[in-house]
Amino acid sequence: MLEETFLLDQLSLLPPHEVGLAVLGNPIKHSVSPQIHNAALKVLAGMDSKFNHWNYRKIEVSSSVLPEALPRLAKLGFRGINLTIPHKVEVLPLLSSIDEQAKIMGAVNTLNFEKDGWKGYNTDGIGLARAIKKDFDRALKDFNVLILGAGGAARAATAQCVFDGCKQIAIFNRSINRANELRQAIRKNGIDQEISVLESLSDPFCGSDLPILVINATSLGLSAEDPSPINLSLLRGDIYVYDMIYNPSVTQLLIEAEKMGYRFSNGLGMLVGQAARSLEIWSGKEVCTESMNRAAVLAMSE
Ligand code: NDP
Repeated sequence: MLEETFLLDQLSLLPPHEVGLAVLGNPIKHSVSPQIHNAALKVLAGMDSKFNHWNYRKIEVSSSVLPEALPRLAKLGFRGINLTIPHKVEVLPLLSSIDEQAKIMGAVNTLNFEKDGWKGYNTDGIGLARAIKKDFDRALKDFNVLILGAGGAARAATAQCVFDGCKQIAIFNRSINRANELRQAIRKNGIDQEISVLESLSDPFCGSDLPILVINATSLGLSAEDPSPINLSLLRGDIYVYDMIYNPSVTQLLIEAEKMGYRFSNGLGMLVGQAARSLEIWSGKEVCTESMNRAAVLAMSE
């Protein structure tokens, strides 16, 4: 198992049969992606021995080093990369091509080494859709969706709701200007679906009987003392609450959802779902999320 944090300078040419995979970020020490991916690779190796030679590492790479890191990693034998803070947007000009849906999301979290160089994908939205299916046994399109936040994760969630055909989508953010910018960024791609930006939470989906899915895509909740980003009692209807935050596993928002008797879940399923989609892109195989899920839960408890 390759679970230590590497620096670029510590890496040498991989053996000819090895396929290198890695997550790049700064900081990266706390990433549990290696445990999640290596668990799935072990299952894949049980079906096809070539996956015994696929290894996933975490590599600390700062913004200033990213432009030289990508060609260097390709030369060393790396074929798949995940990106986390702060690289998801700054990498865009360094890529040879970008998947169409990732362009609309305005960020990539997955790179695949293809014949012309690194191609960027964004698997966060698919990860979210899969988590909603797994945790609530419903598709995104079965809901009117209220997205809290207007950063990168909120943009991926909003775009995925558009792709998946959600009837009504609303965004609520502390800074309303950022929410308006998010809406414009998505709509400028020829998407004409109405996306509302809310100033208050009263009756966001007036006249619709569909259940409401509240998605927390703010960073409020990352600290155990953080309050809930909204007062859930302002919403009416059949409410489901999804918090993208998975560490801590229980946030104030989820505590309030439970008190009100709503279905709720934290962001672990999204973390696993986006990882599974990345590995599918790299391997071309269907990936076992059970093993990834177990590894994620174990890694979180360590
Ligand atoms: P960004 O920094 O891009 O966006 C942060 C958002 O949180 C902004 O909308 C910001 O509002 C809002 N916010 C921050 N502090 C507060 C506050 N005190 N009160 C109200 N709103 C606040 O972060 P990301 O979009 O990258 O990530 C957002 C969350 O999603 C994080 O918690 C992250 O861990 C989680 N995430 C989970 C994933 C998963 O796989 N489960 C994947 C990706 C992200 P404003 O615009 O006003 O500053």
